[in-house]
Amino acid sequence: MLKSPSVLMVLSQLGRRSEVKLARPLHQMVKMAKQVQARRLEGTDKNPWVEFVKLANENEAVNLGQGFPDFAPPEFSREAFRQAVSGDIMLNQYTRAFGHPPLVKILAQFFGKLLEQELDPLNNVLVTVGAYGALFYAFQALVDEGDEVIIIEPYFDCYEPMTKMAGGRPVFVALQPPPAHDGQLMSSGDWKLDPAELASKFTPRTKAIVINSPNNPLGKVFSREELEVIANLCRKHDVLCFSDEVYQWLVYDEQKHISIASLPGMWERTLTIGSAGKTFSATGWKLGWVLGPDRLLKHLRTVHQNSLYHCPTQAQEAVFSSFERELRLFGQPDSYFVQLPKALQKKRDHMLNSLQTIGLKPIVPQGTYFLIADISTFKKKMPHLPGSEGEAYDSRFVKWMIKNKGLVAIPVSAFYSSEQKKCFDHYIRFCFVKNDSTLDAMDDKLQQWKKDLEA
Ligand code: PMP
Ligand code: GLN
Repeated sequence: MLKSPSVLMVLSQLGRRSEVKLARPLHQMVKMAKQVQARRLEGTDKNPWVEFVKLANENEAVNLGQGFPDFAPPEFSREAFRQAVSGDIMLNQYTRAFGHPPLVKILAQFFGKLLEQELDPLNNVLVTVGAYGALFYAFQALVDEGDEVIIIEPYFDCYEPMTKMAGGRPVFVALQPPPAHDGQLMSSGDWKLDPAELASKFTPRTKAIVINSPNNPLGKVFSREELEVIANLCRKHDVLCFSDEVYQWLVYDEQKHISIASLPGMWERTLTIGSAGKTFSATGWKLGWVLGPDRLLKHLRTVHQNSLYHCPTQAQEAVFSSFERELRLFGQPDSYFVQLPKALQKKRDHMLNSLQTIGLKPIVPQGTYFLIADISTFKKKMPHLPGSEGEAYDSRFVKWMIKNKGLVAIPVSAFYSSEQKKCFDHYIRFCFVKNDSTLDAMDDKLQQWKKDLEA
């Protein structure tokens, strides 16, 4: 007997949905089948930010988890936003779809100077809803069913689901920490890629590699030599590079950030991604950009025009004014891009010292506003913390720490693929882009923790 198309559809849906109980009456099954997620979302439902931001909000703990400043953006940026809201009434309306004209112009000028590349504001710059928006467009526009995307671990978590949602297959390669040793603190720069292992990941199916320097969560700033190894492989295998540079101003100890697009032959194949949220300490403004050759960027514009179409005009105007100031003060002591890392280096050093008082072993970050700390000694002392089945140790530890020690961090296993989570479940990430009063509150919690350890 021929089944009706809808029954056939239901049965095929059920075939890939083990959670649906076959014992249900068919009319109920039809209803449930319609509620099944699109296939491209499979395996992407867990998100560390949703989970740990909720925990941070539910508990009265010092929040050193999610990466956002708890201090104000610079006054010139706030004033620019106020002006944008109260000034020209046309700033309440749509502007150019691919970026507010003054903003794309200033971004082209500013980054053209850094990349030593003449940028056309209309064709080499696209304004997006945060760096997240730029990343999403890159994957949607350029990654196809079955394409492989190389991701360096640890990685900002969204690269993996974004690859999968585009139909691609993530291929991971991990930065290797140096052997553990007592004494001097390790630097994020000591974590290295094995060039031979990296080379072995490139196949004829490789479409792109994602790099993130300075790296979230580790704080590693890739050296020119390291970037050259990656660039050589991209050129050799004709592979694209999605370069997430949202923390480019936040480098310490005389480190230098290098954009991979500035290396020979790389502009043509690289998308360089930035974020006003990170640049001007205003994560809630949710404005980002992507720079690249027109040949690539035109595909991202296609995704943009058929999805969001446009970013908020007033935020774009405020970011334009902020960049205008920074271009004028480029490299000078009054520049925010000079002052912010200076201030953050002090906060980083404060946190590095404080965490050691209870036996945490931080890795000194060369950049970003995060640092990761080794919790191995605690893992040895308290191996069996409560948690859900299969939950990584660092995740259990953070939950225990929030409840019992009043400090929020993020488990580093959230930045690893499922295969590597087990090997990297003994680090947690702390965020130091915080007021000194918040860091003092952290110190109080750590002092109490120290007393508990000595008792
Ligand atoms: N990339 C990295 C490495 C990040 O840490 C973040 C943080 N949010 C983003 C991209 C997204 O930036 P935005 O808030 O501008 O979307
Ligand atoms: N980039 C920030 C972090 O790593 C925020 C991420 C988010 O909220 N999704 O903490």
